[in-house]
Amino acid sequence: MPKHIISGLKYLATIELKKRGYTQQKIAQTLEIDRSTVSHYLNGRNLSWKSIEVAQTITQLIPKDFLMLVDTLLNDNEATRTLVNICKTKTFKTQIKESCIGCGLCVDLCIMKAIKLDDLQAQIDSNWCCGCQICTERCPTKSIIILEVKDDREH
Ligand code: SF4
Ligand code: SF4
Repeated sequence: MPKHIISGLKYLATIELKKRGYTQQKIAQTLEIDRSTVSHYLNGRNLSWKSIEVAQTITQLIPKDFLMLVDTLLNDNEATRTLVNICKTKTFKTQIKESCIGCGLCVDLCIMKAIKLDDLQAQIDSNWCCGCQICTERCPTKSIIILEVKDDREH
């Protein structure tokens, strides 16, 4: 596994969580890394600029490619959800149309676990949606709308 890519993404996630007011301990717990590593990242040590540049490039890929790459590299669904959700650079508005038949296919397909079924209707938690569009591509009734809202930030 090309560890420099994941390290770069964890660096970006560390910086982002710090901006959100997380303590070093909370960052370490969230990213499942040592607190000393968090401290090194925040002090600009322990990581090459190349790794950071590569990670920044990856976050700018189209959302599906970003998600699939991280998922393949980590091979750990929960870790993928966490890193992608913190490092994503866009937010998305989600909508389920009344034509939803409650088949649950989208629930199973969503790597971010952003979709659940409620009373035989899909519901999407937009906070966890990374805009990969896997659900919209596969929904048999074309009931899902995912729209980009805005750029969250620039790295
Ligand atoms: S795949 Fe489409 S029809 Fe099936 S539950 Fe999801 S939104 Fe509804
Ligand atoms: S676009 Fe669909 S499949 Fe992708 S994260 Fe959002 S809800 Fe999940």
